Formats: sequence, structure tokens, C-alpha cells
Amino acid sequence: MALDTCISTFLSLDANDPDAAPAALQTCMQALLDPTLWQWVIGITFACAAVGLLVGWVRGRWLAGLLWGAALGPIGWLVVLLSKSGLVECPECGKGNVPRAKACRHCGVNLAAAAARSERSALKRVDRSRGW
Ligand SMILES: [Zn+2]
Repeated sequence: MALDTCISTFLSLDANDPDAAPAALQTCMQALLDPTLWQWVIGITFACAAVGLLVGWVRGRWLAGLLWGAALGPIGWLVVLLSKSGLVECPECGKGNVPRAKACRHCGVNLAAAAARSERSALKRVDRSRGW
């Protein structure tokens, strides 16, 4: 690979030759500007962003997954996996839904009505536990 050539050029640099350093820099610049290298970098970045998008989608945070995956790759996937989920728990079935969902995608219940019902029933449970 061209980067190996760059490294070996710098390691074998002759300190007494005044033209050796500019030639080594020229070799490294050619290696860094190689289109094949950048095609790989961009391709890997897009692949990591796509996996991050999938991981973030599962956690209800697709944009965070996309950005963390593109920026850090597998470490970004872990950041999104270990971070707090953006999903809202359904009061009826307990499964996660996106925050702006009106109905649960698993059981179909109206989330706002179920949440209100759940809070009321929770208050009733508290009242019963006080001795009524
Ligand atoms: Zn549900």
C-alpha cells in the first residue's frame, strides 16, 4: 500500500541529503491524495453510518446512531447502544415506541389515552395502599 511506502521512506531518510526530506514529503502527499485511499475511507464511513443508523433506529435515536456511527464507527455504535433509549414505553404492553407516536406499534393502543388511564389507575393503587 502507498502508506507503507510513505512510512518506509521516512524511516530510511538520509539526514545528510538535503533533497531527501522534500522527496519523502512528495511521496507521502501522493499517498495521501491517492483516490483509491479516499474511496475506501468514504466507503467505510458510509458503511459505519448505515450500521449506526440501524442501531439508532432500534434504540429510537436514528440520527444519533447515524452521526455517532459515521464519526466513530464501532465505538459510535456502542455509544448509541449503551446510551439512554429514546423510546417511550407503552403503558399497556411495555414495549418501546418512538416519542411522537400516537398509537403503540406493537399492540395498537392509543398511547395518550393509555398513559392517562395508567396514571389514574396508579393513583387508585396508591389510595388503596393507604388503608381504604
Ligand atoms: Zn403497546
